[in-house]
Amino acid sequence: MELAPGVRVAVTDRHGGISVPPYGSRNLGGMVGDDPEAVRANRAGVAAELGVRGIVFMRQVHSADVAYVSEPFGDDPPALDGVFTTEPGLALASLGADCPAVLVADPVARMVGAAHSGRPGTEAGIATALVAAMAAKGAAPGRMVALVGPGACGRCYEVPAELRERVAARVPETWSTTSWQTPALDLRAGIEAQLRAAGIQDVRHDARCTIESAELYSHRREQPGGRFAGLIWLA
Ligand SMILES: [Zn+2]
Repeated sequence: MELAPGVRVAVTDRHGGISVPPYGSRNLGGMVGDDPEAVRANRAGVAAELGVRGIVFMRQVHSADVAYVSEPFGDDPPALDGVFTTEPGLALASLGADCPAVLVADPVARMVGAAHSGRPGTEAGIATALVAAMAAKGAAPGRMVALVGPGACGRCYEVPAELRERVAARVPETWSTTSWQTPALDLRAGIEAQLRAAGIQDVRHDARCTIESAELYSHRREQPGGRFAGLIWLA
């Protein structure tokens, strides 16, 4: 779908690939125990379907580290959780199985970025770091549009009380309670607050909950399991 003029986004699901259970079928995660050849084929299939010349996959480590990219990394990507580019036809991927993808674009500067913002990344401020890195290269947060992808929702993502305390001390909007009245984190609310604080007014959501949605992979629901991707690229 079109996020902004000339900017496309897509969110894959578990259907359409060749991986077999428990990874079935479109697992895009490279380090989760699946057959590497199946993952490679699944990734190539997504690139062909989207009509992009390549996809940048990161080695995601729950950091707040961001880099500019102009080509896919290949078989040994660096440890990063955010990338951005001005190259048309180069898709940027954030893999997840409960951790939301953060996809941002400045359609005027023709710049797009993607970040992986799970619990540690949200705590470390990866979304904030991505917007700052893009702004330093000429993007303007006031012109940016953001999409926060599917993730574990604030009514399902149960955590120990001390962890909720700690994360909410840094990102107050994450404080939440499960539907069964135990401590939880609402990463989506925290990420939206970070994006707004960085100056982005147009923040949208693919608000599907991975734990509740059988068509998406969820680390909380199934282990081992695969990874889906949020993707953004310049047309
Ligand atoms: Zn949920």
